[in-house]
Amino acid sequence: MTDRYAVFGNPISHSKSPRIHAEFARQTGQDLGYEAIEAPLDDFRASVLRFREAGGRGANVTVPFKEQAFLLATQRSERADAAGAVNTLKFEDGEILGDNTDGAGLVNDLVANLKFDPAGRRILLLGAGGAARGVGLPLMERQPAELFVANRTAYKARELSARFDCYGGGFEALEGRQFDLVINATAASLAGDLPPMPDDIFAPGALAYDMMYGRDTPFLAFARERGVRTADGLGMLVEQAAEAFYVWRGVRPQTAPVIAMLREAR
Ligand code: NDP
Repeated sequence: MTDRYAVFGNPISHSKSPRIHAEFARQTGQDLGYEAIEAPLDDFRASVLRFREAGGRGANVTVPFKEQAFLLATQRSERADAAGAVNTLKFEDGEILGDNTDGAGLVNDLVANLKFDPAGRRILLLGAGGAARGVGLPLMERQPAELFVANRTAYKARELSARFDCYGGGFEALEGRQFDLVINATAASLAGDLPPMPDDIFAPGALAYDMMYGRDTPFLAFARERGVRTADGLGMLVEQAAEAFYVWRGVRPQTAPVIAMLREAR
């Protein structure tokens, strides 16, 4: 029988996850179906439980339900606990296992696709929302020389950095500093805004990474104008999906052909 999986979000019609997982299933010969389900804003929990009741084996969770998924899980991975958010659920033996694959997705994209090893590098993480929370621990595990979290609301950056055992503060704390990797995990790109960074924030040979995908952003343009290498979040999207696929099926799909397919489809 075909195993059922789904992604829950609101809105969800834009999601590329069904396409990504259909491709992973085809590639690995796994017999599974994957659908997008728009859960009502006040009915996430019941929607997921209904899906499980109907035979669902697992689910991805996206905006705005990752914190609710964290609460719904009856068991959680260390990386989900560190993030305080869950993007992957697995239904097994009456339990709801909660995991967070966003950070692994980012690190795999950096290391495998972009050939950027965070070890010994100075990393700046812009933002302290859901996306930033998911990537702190996996980045720290790569032993960078430094991870600094900067956020518009400074106390949130300080809270998050205490959680990751690194440094953090407001954007003004960036004055006079340089980084080898700058990750934009703010929602500024969504609104066409640029997070306020000093002009000389990029060290020579730096990489500028915007988690946003699907369009050019002021952050990527800012980096390009300074001759800096750039990457968008499409690789992270596919890599976090591959990690979820592995959590569910114990098989690792190839990501490069799927990233290429999505880039071509744009
Ligand atoms: P949240 O709403 O949880 O967090 C938003 C963050 O952005 C906060 O830190 C907020 O600061 C900051 N922010 C918002 N507007 C501005 C602005 N104009 N200038 C500076 N900072 C701003 O969003 P998420 O963390 O869920 O998502 C952030 C981004 O990451 C989105 O673009 C999303 O698409 C992307 N993403 C990509 C993924 C991928 O797989 N590629 C996965 C997950 C997310 P403050 O605290 O001061 O309000």
